[in-house]
Amino acid sequence: MGLYCLHLKADKDRCVNCRKCNTRCQMNLEVNALVQQNRMQHLECILCVDVCPHGVISYHWWRIGRSKDV
Ligand code: SF4
Repeated sequence: MGLYCLHLKADKDRCVNCRKCNTRCQMNLEVNALVQQNRMQHLECILCVDVCPHGVISYHWWRIGRSKDV
């Protein structure tokens, strides 16, 4: 047993830097830059998942206290 929380992850190698994710971000973040820096853990509203035409951004469950995906 453990606690899990929903986070985002990105496959930066598939990103074409079109910046559509930036236009959808309600916090006005440069999501494309976060994708390239592998810093998706800071995003919570998840609107960028649906707008990316290349499926770069996806959901995943993260077990609290562990360093690996589940
Ligand atoms: S919308 Fe997708 S492909 Fe475009 S910059 Fe954002 S993550 Fe990259």
